[in-house]
Amino acid sequence: MPPVLAYPVFLAELARLPMNAGGSGPHHAVAVVDFEGLSELDGVVGYAAVDEIARQAAARLTDALQSSGQVGMTGRHQLACLLYNLPGPDYATLAGHKILRVLSPAFEQDERKLVVSPRIGIALNDSSSTDPERMLRNARSAVRQARLDRESLRLYEAGSDDPLLLGVNLWSDLGHAIEGGQLHLVYQPQLNLSTSRIDTTEGLLRWKHPTRGPIRPDTMIQIAEGTGLMSRLTLWVLNTALRQCAEYRKAGLKAGVSVNISADDLREPDLPELVAQGLDLWGVPPDEIIIELTETAMMEGRSGAIDVLHRLKDMGLKISMDDFGTGYSSMARLLNLPLDEVKIDMTFIRDLTRSEPHERIVDSMIGLGHRLGLNVVAEGVEDATTLERLRALGCDMAQGYYIGRPVPLDELIATAVQVPGGTREDTPGQVR
Ligand code: C2E
Ligand code: CA
Ligand code: CA
Repeated sequence: MPPVLAYPVFLAELARLPMNAGGSGPHHAVAVVDFEGLSELDGVVGYAAVDEIARQAAARLTDALQSSGQVGMTGRHQLACLLYNLPGPDYATLAGHKILRVLSPAFEQDERKLVVSPRIGIALNDSSSTDPERMLRNARSAVRQARLDRESLRLYEAGSDDPLLLGVNLWSDLGHAIEGGQLHLVYQPQLNLSTSRIDTTEGLLRWKHPTRGPIRPDTMIQIAEGTGLMSRLTLWVLNTALRQCAEYRKAGLKAGVSVNISADDLREPDLPELVAQGLDLWGVPPDEIIIELTETAMMEGRSGAIDVLHRLKDMGLKISMDDFGTGYSSMARLLNLPLDEVKIDMTFIRDLTRSEPHERIVDSMIGLGHRLGLNVVAEGVEDATTLERLRALGCDMAQGYYIGRPVPLDELIATAVQVPGGTREDTPGQVR
C-alpha cells in the first residue's frame, strides 16, 4: 500500500500535475476531505484517539485508491486525495461518492465505534485552476461551500464565491444591515388543530442585500454565530417581533409570536432582562411569546445556557424545542429542560402520508410530547391530507405552506384579520 503523504510531499506531488485549460488533456482532480465535528471529539475521546481516526481514514482511502491516486494529510483533520487520469470531468463526482462510501463505516477506537461525517470539495485541473496550488485552494473553497449548504459533496465551479470571503464581506454588511433597515421579519401562522384558529405566528428573518439580493436566514445565522453580531441580531429580531406582535394584536389578530434564537444567545446572561424590557415597552403578555431553540442547540447547552432558558420560563415565556427528532435528546435531558412545546421537524412530516414507518414515528413523537405535558407542533405541512392525518393523530398545532407561507406584517394583518381569532372562511385552516 502506498504511504499517506505528509503535507510538503503532497504539495510537491500536486505541483507536478499538468493543467488542462483546454479540456482535451488528461483530467486530474484534488478532493479535499474535512471531518465535521472531529475537533470537538478531542474533548471527549482525547487528542491521540482523534488523530488515530484521521490516520485510519487516510489508510482506508489509500487502500481504496490504489494506483489511481495518492492520499495526503493537508491539515490535522483534513485529508486530500489526488485523483489521476479520470475518464472525464463527471467522474470526479463519482470518485467523491466513492470516497464518502469508503469513509462511512464506523471507525474503531478502543472498544468504541465512532461514525464521523466527511465533507468533500473537489477541483479539477480545468480552466478554473490556473496552477496546482490554485486547484487545492479551489477544492478547499468547495468544501467550505458544502459546509455552508450542509451538503456532503461539492465540485468547485469557476466564479463561485468562496464562502470564506463571502462570509467576511457579508459579516461587515450584516453589521450595517441591522441598523440600516435592510432586515425585516416575515410571519408564518400556526394553526390550532382543535379550534382552527391562528394561535401564534413564527417570526422568520429576511435580509435583502443591496447587491447580492436575498440572503438565506440560515446563512446569516452561520455568519453571525461566534461573533458579537449574533446578540445584536437576536436583539433586533426580538424587539421587532414584540413590536409587530403588539401591532397585529391591536389590528385584531389575537395571536402570540414565536422567535428563533441560537445557542450563542444563551451565552448572553442579560438576555432575560432585555426581553423583559421589550415586553414592558410593547405591552405584550409574556405567555404570548415562544422562544424556539433547536434540539441540537439545547443538547449542546451547558448548565449556564439552560439556566437562561429557566429564567425566560420563570418570566412566563414559553420554550419550544425546534427541529425535534433531528438531535439526540436523551429522555433524562428532555425531562430536565424547561420545555413547553416540541416542533416535530418537517423531514418527518413530509413523508407522513406516504410512509407507514414515518406515520408511526410521528405518532410516537406526539405521544411522547403529550406524556411529558408538552404542546406538539408539526412543521412543513404542505397539503390537506397531511393536515387531516395530524389532526387524527392528536397533534395540537400545525405550520406549513398549506396553512400559510411566511408573509410580511401588513400582508399577515390583511389576510388573517377577517374574523376574530384570525381565520377566514376560505383558509385551509377551516378544512375539517
Ligand atoms: P426553522 O426555524 O426550522 O424555520 C422553518 C423554515 O421552514 C423556514 O425557512 C420556513 O420558511 C420554512 N417552511 C415553513 N413551512 C414550510 C413548508 O410547508 N415546506 C417547506 N419546505 N418549508 C417550510 P426559513 O425562513 O428559510 O428559515 C430557515 C431557518 O433559519 C429557520 O429554520 C431557522 O433555523 C433560521 N432562522 C430564521 N429566522 C431566524 C431568526 O430570526 N433567528 C435565528 N436564530 N434563526 C433564524
Ligand atoms: Ca423555528
Ligand atoms: Ca424547524
